[in-house]
Amino acid sequence: MTRVFSGIKPTGHLTLGNYLGAMRRWAAVDQHRADGLFCIVDLHALTVDHDPARVRRLSRQAATLLLASGLDPELCTLFVQSHVDEHTRLSYVLECVATDGEMRRMIQYKEKAAREQGRGGSVRLSLLTYPVLMAADILAYGTDEVPVGDDQAQHVELTRDLAVRFNQRYGQTFVVPRATHPGVAARVMNLQEPTSKMGKSDDAGPGIVYLLDEPDVVRKKVLRAVTDSGREVVYDREERPGVANLLEILAACEGGDPGELSGAYASYGALKKAVAEAVVEVLRPVRERHRELCSDPAYVEGVLRKGAERAREMARPRVDAAFRAIGLLPPV
Ligand code: ATP
Ligand code: MG
Repeated sequence: MTRVFSGIKPTGHLTLGNYLGAMRRWAAVDQHRADGLFCIVDLHALTVDHDPARVRRLSRQAATLLLASGLDPELCTLFVQSHVDEHTRLSYVLECVATDGEMRRMIQYKEKAAREQGRGGSVRLSLLTYPVLMAADILAYGTDEVPVGDDQAQHVELTRDLAVRFNQRYGQTFVVPRATHPGVAARVMNLQEPTSKMGKSDDAGPGIVYLLDEPDVVRKKVLRAVTDSGREVVYDREERPGVANLLEILAACEGGDPGELSGAYASYGALKKAVAEAVVEVLRPVRERHRELCSDPAYVEGVLRKGAERAREMARPRVDAAFRAIGLLPPV
């Protein structure tokens, strides 16, 4: 069976971008057709300035929201990265295969490092090495496919390079994974700044729709979305990024093709109203199920405990094999 691994960082409240670009497909498609591992990658949340209590809270919330969006622990493995030591064990070994130059070329590193510096902060070494830990997350499980949005494509490419390099140098150890693309909604843009991605760790603002926003808040944010000059509703990502983003969100929520959908709306106002209602409807069942699950924290904990046990069993043999292949003496 195809093995799929994907993760989400507890760096902020989950957004519509996370849902349409990742979570929804994990639940609706991936967990049914593949052996799916879905991970709250909490170690990655420590790569930027963070509040420890908030990371813990967001990790629990992300797990609850993943269950609320339909992940079924009978069908897939849902767990927290820091509960499975194999990730950091393997990360170190892969750091011995990756190069400094490779890390510095990562677009997300450049963007996030610039942001930290812009805020007057310093750049953590872990932000630079983060793609190696991500490679370890993926390679530890013999992953075949990594469903990710556009923003993570470069990191999956690096993961492939590291796997190939390790296999060539030290013997066949890792499966070389490939990224799979969500199609529509691969890159949901910020409603106020439609040339930037909607990201959960960005400063909160009206351009970001959070999964737990009240319906009226969602409506307000969508109705205030920045649109482009002109009046006609046409789908053009380059010239009309604001309208294109709304059409893509609509297509992701209701099905269909953004270009074809554009013909159905006579004005930006009509389009925004349709998008607002579509988003409210898509998020409604997630919010409801989330509320139910919040009243049963022991259930969520049990899922994470079993998930970590299962993940550990899957990862350990391959990580042990990598230790032996690279020259480490097995414990006696
Ligand atoms: P951060 O700002 O901390 O990087 P993020 O919102 O980008 O947070 P991640 O935890 O980095 O979220 O990514 C989780 C998953 O959500 C990944 O598969 C990623 O590709 C996807 N994703 C993130 N943002 C978007 C977006 N705006 N549109 C579509 N997919 C997205
Ligand atoms: Mg991201």
